[in-house]
Amino acid sequence: MSGQQEVMGERMIKFKGVSINSGRIAGAACLYSAERHRAVPEFLLSNEDLVAEELLKFDEVLRQCSEELDAIAAQVETSVGRAESEIFITQKHIMNDPKVTDAVRAMVKNEKKNIEWAVSDVLNEYEYTFAKIDNQYLSERANDIGEIRRRLLGRITKAKSGLLCEGQAHCSRGANRIIAAYELTADMVAAMNLEKVLGFVTEHGGVTSHAAIIARSLGVPAVSGIRGIMEFVRCGDTIIIDGDNGEAYLNPDAATVAALIPVEPVASEAVCALGTPPGMTLLANASTMEDVKQAAAMGADGIGLLRTEILFIKAERLLDEDEQYAFYRRIVDIMKGKTVTFRMLDVGGDKPLSFLRIKKEENPYLGWRGARYLLGNPDIFTTQMRALVRVSGETPIRVLFPMVVDAEQQRALLDLADKVIAEKGSSRERIEFGTMFEVPSAFIDAEAILPQVDFASIGSNDLIQYLFAIDRNNEMVSQDFNPEHPVLWKMLERLSTVAREKGKPLSICGEMAAREGMQRPLLDIGISILSVAPRLIPRVRNEMARYAGLLS
Ligand code: PEP
Ligand code: MG
Repeated sequence: MSGQQEVMGERMIKFKGVSINSGRIAGAACLYSAERHRAVPEFLLSNEDLVAEELLKFDEVLRQCSEELDAIAAQVETSVGRAESEIFITQKHIMNDPKVTDAVRAMVKNEKKNIEWAVSDVLNEYEYTFAKIDNQYLSERANDIGEIRRRLLGRITKAKSGLLCEGQAHCSRGANRIIAAYELTADMVAAMNLEKVLGFVTEHGGVTSHAAIIARSLGVPAVSGIRGIMEFVRCGDTIIIDGDNGEAYLNPDAATVAALIPVEPVASEAVCALGTPPGMTLLANASTMEDVKQAAAMGADGIGLLRTEILFIKAERLLDEDEQYAFYRRIVDIMKGKTVTFRMLDVGGDKPLSFLRIKKEENPYLGWRGARYLLGNPDIFTTQMRALVRVSGETPIRVLFPMVVDAEQQRALLDLADKVIAEKGSSRERIEFGTMFEVPSAFIDAEAILPQVDFASIGSNDLIQYLFAIDRNNEMVSQDFNPEHPVLWKMLERLSTVAREKGKPLSICGEMAAREGMQRPLLDIGISILSVAPRLIPRVRNEMARYAGLLS
């Protein structure tokens, strides 16, 4: 077995991969294959009648696939959202592009090749060409071309991709199951009963692929890069997906299930009713509207981190002021007067907005990202701030600046914000501005940064990355990504002291706020505002209640 897999006990195998979406879940596996038509036959058409037949077949298949894509788009629009549904409309356009269809027809007519070979050859060539392009947006279109090829071939050869257990009596078509697949393709996600899938575990597939974005917007845990999983897993096997650590466990033993998937439903309901203990605040991190709804349902005290960049990533374009306003407004409405903290667009690093055509960077984590990107793109900043200022005219809100490196940069961001407030004839009173402490230099400059802002939040995911020079997304080094490191805790404690001295509320919104065993030490050092994924609220609230002596 490779270093990616570890046999533990009699049947359990632990796999190491890459997290596509966080969260943990245990469930039975359902296998999906998009690989059934790998071997494409190649033969020569011996007369013109056969050529004409193949061309007719192609027209018919194009029509059927176009209809199929329209139907999927409509289904996805209802079950996920409009932005995601556009993936399939784009695929329809690429599929019907005359450059593509003429090339296929020419191969059949001139070279007398059979239609499946022509489709495969032409689309393979396009996929390869796009994948090589040194531009993330265009290279990701290779995924779409691959999906179009599979769809067309599936129709021609009548060997559609699908669930491997399809037709068997126990097949639930993915409902309440964990889907194991070679690759998470957008059409595969669309073909399932999306609301019911528990999670995804795949051998291949990038963090920024469309399918990964859909998995994130569905809010289900997903891990990719699990090499060999399809070889080992059988339909109905139990799998744990640990999306927080990019790991999966096949046939886990009872102790592993109990350790990774704690069940405390009764206590959490009781504590939900009690609310967060006095003197503490429990906020939610949200990336999608679903997250916001879940946060409200879980009784979060507010939204501590609204990752606005996900809105843009999902839409695959920049949104104008009105569109942003409508979205932010809905969030505020759902939260019914509770605090909502909108983080300004935090792009770069692991969150490239491919449509912005940012030049490929050697070192994206140290490149044009966060606050640096906002200051370099005042138009984008200003449009977003205008939308936020409009919302603040109706309800007070909080706005958070990402990846701030020092007091000077903080000042520049606030100056830009002030210009928008003045232009809109609004007032600073309506917005509380905050800074994220996630770059080590900001911790050193905390005495100068804090007086400028109304509140602060610790982004421990990036902080650990930059403090220990360790990639937060690289599974090879994940064992050293250590939120318990004493150096980190020295920094947290020092910041907590400075924040108290300056009278500024300090929260923590990185993943460690929800990690088991972390709430007590955080509360001990005076960090009593925690912001965590919505579904983790009951567990974290219980821990806070135990700390306050309200729960045994
Ligand atoms: C963080 O860095 O800890 C954080 C909360 O922000 P993000 O994970 O979005 O970078
Ligand atoms: Mg961050």
